[in-house]
Amino acid sequence: MIFDTSQKLESSIAIAILLLYLICFRFAYTATNGLLYLWIAFGMAINAVMTVLFGYIYFAFFTAFSIGKIHHTVGFYIMYGLHIALTVGSVIGGFFIETDVFIQELPLIVVILFSAIMGPFYLYSESKSKRLQGALQTANARISELSIYEERQRIARDLHDTLGQKLSMIGLKSDLAVRLVQKDPNAAIQELNDIRQTSSIALKEVREMVSNMKNVKLQEEMQHVQQILKAADIRLKVEGNPQFDTIPTMLSNSLSMCLKEAVNNVVRHSQATECSVAISQTSDMIELVVKDNGIGIKKGVKRNTSNGLNGLKERVEFVNGELEVKDKDGTFIKITVPIVRPPTE
Ligand code: ADP
Ligand code: CA
Repeated sequence: MIFDTSQKLESSIAIAILLLYLICFRFAYTATNGLLYLWIAFGMAINAVMTVLFGYIYFAFFTAFSIGKIHHTVGFYIMYGLHIALTVGSVIGGFFIETDVFIQELPLIVVILFSAIMGPFYLYSESKSKRLQGALQTANARISELSIYEERQRIARDLHDTLGQKLSMIGLKSDLAVRLVQKDPNAAIQELNDIRQTSSIALKEVREMVSNMKNVKLQEEMQHVQQILKAADIRLKVEGNPQFDTIPTMLSNSLSMCLKEAVNNVVRHSQATECSVAISQTSDMIELVVKDNGIGIKKGVKRNTSNGLNGLKERVEFVNGELEVKDKDGTFIKITVPIVRPPTE
C-alpha cells in the first residue's frame, strides 16, 4: 500500500494527491455539464498517476461512479472510453514499474478494473431510466392537466351558449316590460311570461349541465350494460369493487367507452350465454376485464377491417394503458390503465 513506503516525501505526496482526488470527486458529485467533465478529467489524471507510481488503482472505482452521472450520451461514451483506456494503460504501465506491488494486489486490481469497466454502464442506464420515468410522469400529469383545461373550455362554451344567451334575453325583455307597463300592460304581461318561461328553461339547462359534469360516467355505463345484456338474454356477472367517485374524469370517460364497445361486441358477435365484467382498482391503476363464453374472435376477422377494437386500442393507449385481447373459451378483453392524478384534482 502507499503508506508502507518508508520515504517520508513519497507518503506526503501520496496524501496530498489523495486529498486532491477527494476534492475533485466532491466537485464532480455536485457539478453539472461542462464542469462535471473537467472534474472527472482531473480525477482520471490523478487516478492514472497514482496507479503508475504507487499501484493505487482504487480511485478508478470512484471515477467510474462520477462518469455514470453524465447525462449526455456522446459525452458519456467519450469519458467512458478515456477512463477505460487510461485505467488499463496505467495498470499495464504500473505493472512494469511496481511489479511487486501489482502482483501482491492482483485480485483487488482485477476487481477494481472490472467495476471500472461495468460501473459506469450500470449507473448510466440506472440514471437514464430514472430520468425517462420522470419525463413520463410529467407527460402524464400534463395530459391530465390538458384534459381538465379542455373540460373547462367546454363548460365555459356551454355556459356562454345556453345560460349567457338566456340571461341577456331576460335582461332585454325586462327592459321592454318596464317601458310597456304603463303604455300597454297586456304586452308587458306577455313579456313577463316570456321571462318566466326563459328562466325556467335556463334553470333546467343548468341542472342538466351540472349532472353531466358529475363523474358518474363509468357507473352509468355499468347500468346501461346491465340493461343491454338483460335484453339480449346474456347473464351478467359483475366482479370487483370499484370506487367510481375516485376515478379521474378522463379515465372514467375512456373506460366507459371501452366497456360499452366490449359489451356491444359481446351482444353482437359472441353468441355467449354469460358475460362477466370485472373492475378492480388500486391506488395507481384500474383494470377492466370483459369476458364472455361465446364463439371467440375468429382469426383473420380481427382488427384490420373494423373500427371497434382498433378504436378501443387507441383510446386505451391515449391514457397510457394496455389492452390485451385473448381467445380463451370465448373472448377475454383486459384493459389496464394507470391512474395519474393532476396536482389540482
Ligand atoms: P365491429 O363490431 O364493427 O364488427 P370490432 O372491431 O368491434 O368491429 O370487432 C371486430 C370483429 O371481431 C367483429 O366483427 C367480430 O367478428 C369479432 N368480435 C369482436 N368481439 C367479439 C366477441 N366478444 N365475440 C366474438 N367475436 C367478436
Ligand atoms: Ca364493435
